[in-house]
Parts: sequence; C-alpha cells; structure tokens
Amino acid sequence: MYSEPGQTRSSIPMNSDSSSIGQCPECGSELGPGQKLIEFEESDGTTGVFAECYSCDEVVRPE
Ligand SMILES: [Zn+2]
Repeated sequence: MYSEPGQTRSSIPMNSDSSSIGQCPECGSELGPGQKLIEFEESDGTTGVFAECYSCDEVVRPE
C-alpha cells in the first residue's frame, strides 16, 4: 500500500508581469520594482513613475 500525494502542487509562475512596473519606452525592456526611482502625481491625478532602465542606462518613464 502506498499513499498517493493527491494533486501535485506546481506553482509555475506564468510570467512575472505582476511585479513589473512597465516597459522601457526606448528599448522595451521589462522594468521591475527595484528599478523604480520615484513616483509622482500627474496633473490628471494618475501616478507617474520614473525608473532606471539598465539597458539604456537612463531614467525613463515606463509604459
Ligand atoms: Zn531601455
């Protein structure tokens, strides 16, 4: 007799988009939360973000 573990739990992350803050408008690189530099409020009330793109080595506004 053996015990079956039942359903195998596989937590495969589809992709890490949930932790992404956007893409670099210059090169399209995915920008992670660790690259975020500053948040600010836009004139229309939305939150804007500046992040550092490691590929471009520049501060960009993620799209
Ligand atoms: Zn870039």
